[in-house]
Amino acid sequence: MSQVLEKAYDYIVVGAGSAGCVLAARLSEDASVNVLLIEAGGSDTHPDVADPARWARLLRTERAWQYETVPQRHCDNRVDRVPRGKMLGGCHSLNANVWVRGHRSDFDAWKASGCEGWGWEDVLRLYQRIEDWHGTDCELRGKGGPMYVSPPADPHPVATAFVESARAIGLPQIDDHNAKEMEGVGLLNLTIKDGRRHSVVQAYLQPAMTRKNLTILTHAETSRLLITGSRCVGVEFEQNGHLTTASASREVILAAGVIGSPCILMRSGIGLAEELKRMSIDVVSDLPGVGQNLHDHPMVGGINYECKVPLGAPHNNGVEAAMWWKTRRGLSGPDIQAVLLEFPYATPVLADRLPNANCYTIAPLVMRPASRGSIRLASTNFKDAPLIDVNFMSCDADIAAMLVAIDMCRDMGASEAFTHFRQREVMPRKLSRNDLIDFIRMSTTTCFHPVGTCKMGVDRDAVVDPTLKVRGIEGLRVADASIMPTVTSGNTNAPTVMIGEKAAEMIVES
Ligand SMILES: Cc1cc2nc3c(=O)[nH]c(=O)nc-3n(C[C@H](O)[C@H](O)[C@H](O)COP(=O)(O)OP(=O)(O)OC[C@H]3O[C@@H](n4cnc5c(N)ncnc54)[C@H](O)[C@@H]3O)c2cc1C
Repeated sequence: MSQVLEKAYDYIVVGAGSAGCVLAARLSEDASVNVLLIEAGGSDTHPDVADPARWARLLRTERAWQYETVPQRHCDNRVDRVPRGKMLGGCHSLNANVWVRGHRSDFDAWKASGCEGWGWEDVLRLYQRIEDWHGTDCELRGKGGPMYVSPPADPHPVATAFVESARAIGLPQIDDHNAKEMEGVGLLNLTIKDGRRHSVVQAYLQPAMTRKNLTILTHAETSRLLITGSRCVGVEFEQNGHLTTASASREVILAAGVIGSPCILMRSGIGLAEELKRMSIDVVSDLPGVGQNLHDHPMVGGINYECKVPLGAPHNNGVEAAMWWKTRRGLSGPDIQAVLLEFPYATPVLADRLPNANCYTIAPLVMRPASRGSIRLASTNFKDAPLIDVNFMSCDADIAAMLVAIDMCRDMGASEAFTHFRQREVMPRKLSRNDLIDFIRMSTTTCFHPVGTCKMGVDRDAVVDPTLKVRGIEGLRVADASIMPTVTSGNTNAPTVMIGEKAAEMIVES
């Protein structure tokens, strides 16, 4: 690996996150091509990164982008935080290490919308290639791949109680949500190896660092793309306070994440023409979908229980068990999830209701939200944070799904399985429908899974085509969570790693 900038590369990958690390590692397997990986943050070497229990501590440090939403109109005008990883590994270096592939119907819906090659049968072999699964054998899982995945070692008894509580509401217990059946309640798959975080850095980037044809620049923030005519020929970035450029003879691949990628496109003149003109940016390509279609899994944080015995420290990542279910018959896959948090969790406006730290939480989520928001540039200065409007709970359908999810979670939390732990339900407790809706608006927050701002597809709003090429521009692809047309019905890291693998495969084949 080199850290010295050459004049020209075959490929430039912008952003060393969940997808970018995979891309850099896979593309540099061919010793005849030169690959440059540019990352705005620094290294991932820090005890809080390595320790899976300390992920929340990283969110207010220099290893995270400190983004916020604009006031959320349908959530009491609250401003929500939007932390994103800013270091090698991106969000996988500070996330909760939960590994969920998504439901088969998520990918089949992508394919049905025109994204040929992205159906479940297409992506399954990629997941199998990625995984090194250490749980119950199943022909659907991968063995020997770069990503160590296993059930939690020594789960916390309160997580086990959550799995037991499935019986109380007639849900099945599931051994592995990434195998045949996702619906039910079970312990989660985690990317923790020997008690330490096992991210895309350990799985993909570190093994590639011995290669001479891979250059990795850290603390290098990309400001814009260099475009000649309709071809992307390189990038401009700032390192050590100086703006510099690097050129790519084959392709630039944006993997700067759901916020970074659309912002780089817009600053480069690729986006909704009238919006770019308003910002006095020369229009290179009028692509109205750039920055649109922003959505996230809204999470109610949360149904909190005071614990009558000392809860002790969280085990592993503190998020070891989950439930997936459908709110109504006829859906192709689960539209709600709940996670058991081995700690108290409340939005700032409700935090003073918590009696002490000896609380656990059941947090319900909407998996297939209808609400859509956007990301817009606040200025042309790449140092300025954009305007992020995730527009939580702007659709009644999301409120309706959340109401069902809360009811189910409260029934699980009140069940016999929790007798040893439950002192009392602190909030929300039994409320009228209207009061519960107020509670939802006060307590909805991010589950850290925003996607969709450079949507893949074949319609007018698509930013990239199914080969992830930016429409109308040669030599440019986007490959990260921003390309998901619709969010998967589970945590978004595994699908993003899969997107990185698929992008690399398509680039190598072309
Ligand atoms: C706190 C938290 C907890 C989460 N927990 C889980 C979980 O347990 N399981 C799960 O599945 N998902 C989880 N997620 C979500 C998941 O990690 C992300 O969806 C996924 O990592 C996104 O990958 P990405 O490649 O799209 O972007 P990222 O991983 O965000 O990578 C983008 C990279 O690009 C860099 N970058 C951005 N702009 C520029 C620029 N201009 N120039 C150069 N570099 C730039 C960033 O610094 C970053 O390193 C969590 C996320 C967070 C924030």
